[in-house]
Amino acid sequence: MKVAKFGGTSLANAEQIKKVCDVVLSDPERRLVVVSAPGKRYKDDIKVTDLLINCASSYLKNGNAEQELNAVVSRFDEIAKGLGLSEDIVRVVEADLRGRLSGTVTNKEKFMDLLKAAGEDNSAKVVAEYLKSKGIEASYINPKDAGLFLSGEFGNARVLPESYKNLKALKEKTGIMIFPGFFGYSPEGEVVTFPRGGSDITGSILAAAIKADVYENFTDVDSVYAANPNVVQNPKAIPVLTYREMRELSYAGFSVLHEETLEPVYRMGIPVNIRNTNNPSAPGTMIVKNREPKEPVVGIASDAGFCSIYMSKYMMNREVGFGRKVLKILEDEGLSYEHTPSGIDNISIILREKQFDEKMEARVLEHIKDELVVDYIEVERGLALVMIVGEGMFNTVGMSARATAAFAKAGVNIEMINQGSSEVSMMFGVKAKDSDKAVKALYTEFFGE
Ligand code: ASP
Repeated sequence: MKVAKFGGTSLANAEQIKKVCDVVLSDPERRLVVVSAPGKRYKDDIKVTDLLINCASSYLKNGNAEQELNAVVSRFDEIAKGLGLSEDIVRVVEADLRGRLSGTVTNKEKFMDLLKAAGEDNSAKVVAEYLKSKGIEASYINPKDAGLFLSGEFGNARVLPESYKNLKALKEKTGIMIFPGFFGYSPEGEVVTFPRGGSDITGSILAAAIKADVYENFTDVDSVYAANPNVVQNPKAIPVLTYREMRELSYAGFSVLHEETLEPVYRMGIPVNIRNTNNPSAPGTMIVKNREPKEPVVGIASDAGFCSIYMSKYMMNREVGFGRKVLKILEDEGLSYEHTPSGIDNISIILREKQFDEKMEARVLEHIKDELVVDYIEVERGLALVMIVGEGMFNTVGMSARATAAFAKAGVNIEMINQGSSEVSMMFGVKAKDSDKAVKALYTEFFGE
């Protein structure tokens, strides 16, 4: 049995949904299907999830969201008409949305999640209805009935271990099951969503729970590429890469899979196949446990939105507990950190900038100065992390020399370097404005023009 997940562009309109159903029906093993909410039909279109967020925001602000609700209903109406379905399904969608808007709002985040989840939930109902209208045995699966339980962290939920046991029972069901992505239920029975883009995570959990042969993730590109095609022209397609490589690449900005997707399938050793709904005959990219690397580098990624707290203190290396105390100060503020490159007398802490506003910065700096009496401390904002990723780097000499020479040739100043102890990646901190130049320079060095 395969789990096949389809992303938002694959469900954006009736024509795309027909393609999804063709793909599903072309392989009898594709029985557990995870769907996103309808995404963008064209570049400047608005995803249904964003329309739902507008709906919730407007309701919270004005106690009314008629116009925003109609925008969502009209997307489903267009889809239902294009699929030749009766008006009834549109009325089901509308009633569902009105029901979500009708309760008293006790917690804004809870309310927001309830609305956000409506995109996937109704998308799944429509797809199941369409398959049934074609005489196919298909059913919509409600995540609560199936037992997908998540932590009660609204907008940022994580799967609870008991879900795997519950979801295993889906294996016994007959016909094609259409499962909505992106949300589940807290133990208290509230709708909770994963972070944005989280339908990928739903698919991965299901694949792990039923021990699928493969987790197929259908999107709108033929494969994962060695660099962002918006930065490098015609980058090389990657036919196969390991979980570790994909994890590092998605961490540093490869948006093809949500960063948290791989954990459930990784633990069960289930391969992931990234494929294109619009070109289903292309083999796509396989993500597997091990591969024999032919070249040292598999891909180059970059992501902006980082900042660093740099501090130095003479004889820092002799001061027992320095690092722990700094990290404790961050922990007390609820800050998570990304990297900690360090020297004998200095250390930098790299953080995501969005969690570190000016007020927080002032507080953290004051604590560090007071408690650790550093000689110098500085925050640098507007950084991008550029990562070179590849299992083959492990036993290749001279990787950092090649990378730094490429930076020098392109005139990119390196703010910091960090080679993870896994040796599957090497990270460079650069100014965000230099990030594209850095990626191009590295691509040319490791993949040629
Ligand atoms: N529809 C959700 C979003 O736009 C989740 C997903 O598509 O994976 O973030």
